Parts: sequence; structure tokens; C-alpha cells
Amino acid sequence: MTSEELRDSLLMAPKNGFSRIDEAQRKEIDAYCKDYVAFMDACKTEREATAWAIAEAEKHGFKPFATGMDIQAGDKIYYNNRNKAIALAVIGTSSLAEGINICAAHVDSPRIDIKPNPLYEESEIAYLKGHYYGGIKKYQWPTIPLALHGVVYRKDGTLVTVTIGEEDTDPVLMISDLLPHLAADQMQKTAAKVIEGEQLNVIMGTEPLEGEGADLVKLHIMKLLNEKYALVEEDFLSAELTLVPAGKCRDVGLDRSLISGYGHDDRVCAYAELYALFQIDTPAKTAVCILADKEEIGSVGVSGMQSKYFEHFIEGLCEAQNVKLSDCFSNSFCLSADVSNAFDPNWPETCDRRNNSKLNYGVAICKYTGSRGKGGASDASAEAMGHIRTTFANAGVIWQIATLGKVDQGGGGTVAAYMANRNIVTVDAGVPVLSMHAPLELVSKLDCYETMLACKAIYLA
Ligand code: MN
Ligand code: MN
Repeated sequence: MTSEELRDSLLMAPKNGFSRIDEAQRKEIDAYCKDYVAFMDACKTEREATAWAIAEAEKHGFKPFATGMDIQAGDKIYYNNRNKAIALAVIGTSSLAEGINICAAHVDSPRIDIKPNPLYEESEIAYLKGHYYGGIKKYQWPTIPLALHGVVYRKDGTLVTVTIGEEDTDPVLMISDLLPHLAADQMQKTAAKVIEGEQLNVIMGTEPLEGEGADLVKLHIMKLLNEKYALVEEDFLSAELTLVPAGKCRDVGLDRSLISGYGHDDRVCAYAELYALFQIDTPAKTAVCILADKEEIGSVGVSGMQSKYFEHFIEGLCEAQNVKLSDCFSNSFCLSADVSNAFDPNWPETCDRRNNSKLNYGVAICKYTGSRGKGGASDASAEAMGHIRTTFANAGVIWQIATLGKVDQGGGGTVAAYMANRNIVTVDAGVPVLSMHAPLELVSKLDCYETMLACKAIYLA
């Protein structure tokens, strides 16, 4: 054999995904991403994503889970976890004892939550006090248009849903930054301190009501909130309000190959999972899609992936078939669908480029996450990686390998460890992202689409 022939038969030669698709697939990618963007523009919080998933699921024939319900192959069931997370199942033809195929993503994203007692006036400017949620660079959040999303429960128990800043006619909210002319001291600080946690206070207004006494600007803002939502100040105590970047996704690049948007991490994988689940016919093994909350702060709490709500749901399904939950889990597989860092040529020194995911090379499989000596990682076995390789090859999924940065540079985690702790074989996979955790993140349309195909292949494996 010549060296050329040996090279072809022995060595890997990764190719850009665009050289591996035809014109018809290019159109499918665009159509899929148009739907994805509509979902993104409608859903910026875990609550909004959960509500959207329930509405779409019901259109596709899904029914709510109830303990003691009968199940049959082809049944479509969803479990709403307190309006903040959801798991959906399409019951397969084989017994649950043979295991289930799971895709697990999260629908919470880094943001600025509003404190329980937030409204105050200072120097005749009214503010809400913020508390950041998840891993953000705080300095990225001032001077960009922000929208207020969330829910408030009034004292009488009635619910108010708040959205301010998304309609073209809405005002937006904003956090101020210091002018460079007076920033001599600020510019000497480390990036972590340039904007401090207690400076994430958002301007609500500046016009005082007519009258005497203190805090007439604050009073004006409260009056406006009362007129629109019938709220009083005490109602903030039983609220979940959050500041997110205002506005919609946009195509990026003259070739329109990328999408900018808030919270691709991890709604880009959540949407891929849901879309794929709605596409499949009755699978052999039961297919389960999870949209979890609280991943960005450690998957803790009743709506996070460490919560036993997942056991409650799957155990309920198992009971209908007289199957032990532990038998089901031990034969199950989970694709922990979460984003990875796309290689960024502006910071090549942070990555091992031989092992980093790249834009347009397809869904990124991350054998392990963690930090330092794989600390905290769910390290997928050779068997699990082999299963993925075979499944994706058979389904024609364009995929690539990924690691999160060079050794000792940093690290991170996903829900993978919590699925693996349940005795479920788990592999991390997802869409490569530029500017992850920034107010606006970037993803490639091709990678979004291939991640959806990957989820579909896992459901049908
Ligand atoms: Mn994530
Ligand atoms: Mn994240």
C-alpha cells in the first residue's frame, strides 16, 4: 500500500459538517433552526420552557402522569415537576425491565434573579436588587437591555405572570456601568470585581410622583406595578422574578450559519430532545426526555436532577408492568445532552485543540467533564462510547469528540453524574457554544440539527 492509501485506511480525517451534507439537508437544517428560534424567543426561563413543552406535548397526544395508571406501548406520558421541570416518555414495545433510553437536558440558564425584598430608591432613582444565578461574568450584564420575567403569588394565593421588556413597545430595564473617564480605580480591579455582586441593581425608573415625603420615585414604580399587575410591595416576598437579556435570537454571519441568543445552554439541547421525541413512532425501549431545572447551580433542589421526582415518575411506569425500578435503571442509557465549549481561536491557549469541539463538526461527545484530575467527572466507559459510536454511525449522525478545556485550566459538570449515580450508563453530548454563559451565546445551525438527530438515534437505539 502507498502511504496515501495507508493514510486513508488508518488515520482519522475529520471534515467540516458542511462538506458532509447535501442541499436537501441544508434546507432541513434551516427549517429546524427556524422552529428552534421560535421556541427560544418564547422561552427564556425554566418555567416558560416547561409550559411550552406541556402545551406542545398535549398537541402531540401526551397525557399527564398519574400514579397507578395503566400503560401500553405507544402511550405518551408527561410528568410536570411543579411547573419548573418536566419528564416525558413514549412507552416502548419491550418491558421496562430491559431499560429505557433517556435524553436529559436542562432549561435553566445563568441570569440575575431578583432578591426577596428588592425595591428601593437611591438618589431619586428606583431600583430592584439582583442576585446572580449560575456562573456569569458579572461585568457582561450592565448596559445591555434586560427583560423581567417570572411569577408572583399574591397574598390571596392568586398567580400573576410578569413579562416586561420583550414586546417592541415595552420599556426595557438596565444596569448602569461607570464611565471610563472616572474608571481609573475600576480598571485596576480583576474582572471578577469590576462589577460586584451588590452592584447588579437594575434601574426601574426615575420620575417621582407629585407630593410630599420620601421615596416618590419608588412609590411611582410600585403604583405602575399595581396598575398593571395588581401588586403591592409585600408581593415580592412570594415571587420568582428574574432578569434576562431582552430581545430575540438573530442569525449571525453573512452566511447566516450561526445563531445568537440568550440561554442556548441548555435550551438548544432541550429543544433537540423534545423535537426528536415528537418525531419518533413507538420505540423498542421506552424513550424518556428530561428538561431539568437548577443545573446551573448544581442540580440541587426539588426541581433539579438530583431530586427523587425522576424516580417517582419512572417507578410509577415500572409499577404498571410489575418491574423493579432498579432493574429498569441498571439496563438504561442516558445521553446527558448539554453544551460544550466550541474552540475559540481568540483563546487557543485555554484548550487542547486536538480534543476540543469545533463549530460545524456536529454534536460534541464529551467522554468526561470535571476538573483537575477528572475531579467530579462522570467518565463514560469504553463500552458506553462504543455504544454511541455504533448508534450514531448507523443513524448517520455527524459527531465529534470534546473535552472542556486543557488540563488544569478549569472545568465544569452537567447532570451526567446524577444520572450515572442512579446506576444508568451515561454519556455527555451536546452543541458546541461560543461565549458560553454570556448574555448572548453563539451556536452553529448545523450542530443544532445534528444534536437533534443524535437524540433521535438514542431514543430509537
Ligand atoms: Mn449546561
Ligand atoms: Mn451552563
